Amino acid sequence: MAERSYDFLMPSVNFFGPGVISKIGDRAKMLGMKKPVIVTDKFLEGLKDGAVEQTLDSLKAAGVDYVVYNNVEPNPKIRNIKEVKKLYEESGADSIITVGGGSAHDTGKGAGIILTNGDDITKLAGIETLDKALPPLIAVNTTAGTGSELTRHAVITNEETHLKFVVVSWRNIPLVSFNDPTLMLDVPKGLTAATGMDAFVQAVEPYVSVDHNPITDSQCVEAIKLIETSLREAVANGHNLDARTKMVEAEMLAGMAFNNANLGYVHAMAHQLGGQYDAPHGVCCALLLPYVEEYNIIACPDRFTQLAEIMGENTEGLSTRDAAELAIKAMKQLSEDVGIPHSIKEIGAKPEDFELMAENALKDGNAFSNPRKGTKEDIIKIFQAAYDAE
Ligand code: NAD
Repeated sequence: MAERSYDFLMPSVNFFGPGVISKIGDRAKMLGMKKPVIVTDKFLEGLKDGAVEQTLDSLKAAGVDYVVYNNVEPNPKIRNIKEVKKLYEESGADSIITVGGGSAHDTGKGAGIILTNGDDITKLAGIETLDKALPPLIAVNTTAGTGSELTRHAVITNEETHLKFVVVSWRNIPLVSFNDPTLMLDVPKGLTAATGMDAFVQAVEPYVSVDHNPITDSQCVEAIKLIETSLREAVANGHNLDARTKMVEAEMLAGMAFNNANLGYVHAMAHQLGGQYDAPHGVCCALLLPYVEEYNIIACPDRFTQLAEIMGENTEGLSTRDAAELAIKAMKQLSEDVGIPHSIKEIGAKPEDFELMAENALKDGNAFSNPRKGTKEDIIKIFQAAYDAE
């Protein structure tokens, strides 16, 4: 466990619950926003009565002007953040509102970073590398999810090198987050499963992280219970508002937890798959999770026994090892039930890339909090196990 001296980070205001999106205009005005850039994608912009439309209606009602950037790409690229910066400067904008999932939030954060901290974001990869505050930023979240609407992370892909890197800084944390589950009722099954599994991994990794503390532990436990009991239903019946609401609560709890206790090899390795093959982040995380955690068991077997119990497994009378294995079994079952593929083959992974990806994974900011310290060969073996999975 981390030393009993730590900071605890999250946005100062977080609006949560059905209908809260109507408050965004007044909140933007309160923050002194006169002309935000709305950072989103064309699909969300075109949704009738969707998150973008409701955000713009609320801004209009509050008399706040805006300009829209609608070219966010999944696994956002450096070109996206440069485009937002250009629009911001040319339109005389003074702030940023991101509307979407992790890709929209990270594009907005990335643009904010280069607007105030210098043009070359690759030089700012790492932890607490930012000297200057970003422009005021509100995040309206539409997936449950990455937690990016309340985290200090900005995950950006260098389209030239295919490297996905992270800028981690308290200055990245949005001033205000909005999580309205009514905006998520029409998220398709595959995306619900992928983003839900991302939230799940973001609750498991901080639970076994070397930086965990009692506050993050309680957040992870509750997030895992909520996901275990509501993700299947959210996938099977997307219009169940109760299941969607619980998934939002879970993703917020997981976001707060990993914002403070950090992640591990699943994310460090998923960033390589995402950067190399442009694959959906949540799917990459879910595919790697059981193989990374199987590797991690010997570093903290009791934490894995607890994870099994949190997921509803009966560990009575079992050896620590067998009890810990039940956690891995429960993780695989959850993935299976929500329709995640089995092998990283299915997202285009190739064994000849494993060596370079393993080298880069060990340099990723998320690798340092993993409970077991691995070598390049260990990471290659984990990629191989996730590749060979049937
Ligand atoms: P996403 O933002 O990439 O969105 C995926 C697709 O879902 C898009 O096409 C989008 O239009 C669509 N979509 C979004 N909301 C929708 C809705 N309500 N209804 C229908 N469609 C909707 O997906 P994501 O999983 O939220 O974000 C993934 C990105 O976030 C990755 O790049 C990942 O690395 C990053 N990430 C960031 C953090 C962080 O703390 N910064 C944490 C985890 C992941």
